[in-house]
Amino acid sequence: MLACIDLEGVLLPEIWIKFAEKTGIEELKLTTRDIPNYDDLMQGRLNILKQHNLKLNDIESVIETLSPLEGAQDFFKWLNSEFQVIILSDTFYQFAGPLMKQLDYPTLFCHNLIVDNDGAISGYKLRQKDQKTKAVKALQGLNLQVISAGDSYNDTGMLQQADAGILFCPPKKLIAEFPQFPVATDYSQFKELFLKSRNSLIKAS
Ligand SMILES: [Mg+2]
Repeated sequence: MLACIDLEGVLLPEIWIKFAEKTGIEELKLTTRDIPNYDDLMQGRLNILKQHNLKLNDIESVIETLSPLEGAQDFFKWLNSEFQVIILSDTFYQFAGPLMKQLDYPTLFCHNLIVDNDGAISGYKLRQKDQKTKAVKALQGLNLQVISAGDSYNDTGMLQQADAGILFCPPKKLIAEFPQFPVATDYSQFKELFLKSRNSLIKAS
């Protein structure tokens, strides 16, 4: 049995929100929690960066100051002791890479930014579209059972595909739209829901 979990909003703070706070650019605070269509969200972000002449190293200097959410490191250690874990994220290797040491270098599947010679972010390349759902489906094809967990709209595909899904501190409207998923609001509840999901899957098999 595998655990496939999201990164930002679950283990790490939202990198774009932190960057918005640092630069004072309000529009950069929008995330997948606000705009379900990922390409719309990313094109908007890239336009804002261009307008303000902000480059990858400006974002990197904020990322260097970040650490996992409070309690995330202990939770993640526990999760790895109970399950094999893969992090499925819609962030970019250029953003998340520097923070992986603090999570003891987990397996991470995410996307790539396209960076010009002058360090400007000109675009992004998805590893594949709807990669979270496809990864879970592929793992199930290897005869593995998957418990998925995330906080946002871009996680709902993998939660539905998985054998069990868990929401962690999601926005209220998401809870209303997806009432079938149990909700954890802190790491101790999160642990309990992982154990409960595993027990139900073992019982059902
Ligand atoms: Mg998230």
